[in-house]
Amino acid sequence: MRWDRCGEIQRQKVRAYLVLGLLSAALAVVLHLLYHRQTWETSIPNDCFAAAAVEPGAPRLVCLTFDDGPGVNTEPLLAILEEEKVPATFFVCAQPVNRPYLPLVRTIVQQGHQVAMHSASHQYAQIYQSTDAFWQDIKELRRQLEPYLSLGDLTWLRFPGGSTNTVSHRYGGRRIMEELKAQTEEKGWHWIDWNVCGEDATASHPDAEQILRNIRQDAADKTVCVVLLHDTKTAGQTVEALPGIIGWFREQGYHFCTVAQMEQLQGSLQSAGE
Ligand SMILES: [Zn+2]
Repeated sequence: MRWDRCGEIQRQKVRAYLVLGLLSAALAVVLHLLYHRQTWETSIPNDCFAAAAVEPGAPRLVCLTFDDGPGVNTEPLLAILEEEKVPATFFVCAQPVNRPYLPLVRTIVQQGHQVAMHSASHQYAQIYQSTDAFWQDIKELRRQLEPYLSLGDLTWLRFPGGSTNTVSHRYGGRRIMEELKAQTEEKGWHWIDWNVCGEDATASHPDAEQILRNIRQDAADKTVCVVLLHDTKTAGQTVEALPGIIGWFREQGYHFCTVAQMEQLQGSLQSAGE
């Protein structure tokens, strides 16, 4: 009798340990997933253009920017830009999904657009491990782009997740973005975020009308708009949305330019009294 009870207690203990073990394993999985979740590049990263928001009479400029390509949508987008005679900037990657499309960067340049750097791998855990890891990734991106363009023209950069992202702190510490921004400037390069977001690559797969609504909402009252869009497969509706986006900015009296042209164009429009 006594031994039976002992055996029962023993079995209960084993069951309790098993349940506890399973619960801890589940918790570990959840924490891991949360920790390594890739954040969407949707929210506007900083207020670097805030000053441009209230300048009555200043010329209105818009830079359409396409991130994470080249990809399946790059050519259809180029065709629309060509037809509309609108320049744009492409912040490119060199992930396996991009590789078949990399020769398109030559066409992008030939059609008068700007190619700029985003990241080779776009993996936050990898690129933000250290400043060295980041520049190694950029070196790899430039190596893969070299056959198609002049590397001397590649002087603009957009940090994956934006320049004020906090996801990088997990991997490279709290100071990493400040260090990377300073090092970009030391190289004589430029970095730029965005202040208008189409939210075209989010999991909710917005349709063309929703993308335009997102843009109109962010662009309201901004003199200089840097619009974030994507030319990747996940952003399937961006091609549909683009003619409407261009039309809306035109109606509002905006001038289109690449990010490299922005400052110069602003100066020349201002002196022309536009
Ligand atoms: Zn990106």
